[in-house]
Amino acid sequence: MITKEELETLKEKLLEEKIKLTRELEDPHADFGSDVDALDEEADEAEEFANKLGVQTATKEHLREINGALERMVVGEYGVCEECHNPISLDVLSAEPESRLCKSCKLK
Ligand SMILES: [Zn+2]
Repeated sequence: MITKEELETLKEKLLEEKIKLTRELEDPHADFGSDVDALDEEADEAEEFANKLGVQTATKEHLREINGALERMVVGEYGVCEECHNPISLDVLSAEPESRLCKSCKLK
């Protein structure tokens, strides 16, 4: 079982990640740095735009997972596998706090 303290730590991780991802979505240039200027060819721009969209979609999806995990914490369903309804082990949750599946279901 996950203790209250462990749950608090995981919640903090989720909230930190949530803030980080929200910032990335608000400012998509934040993580691209000065490399963007080097790619200032017209042909590359379309590709670059597509890449950014891909990154944004992945970020939004990740954010949705995190919000889902935080909601499950509120209703007390956090840390339970969606597939087999067994508790998800702490090493899985520590590595990926938004995880919805236990180790064995993940491997399926
Ligand atoms: Zn499972």
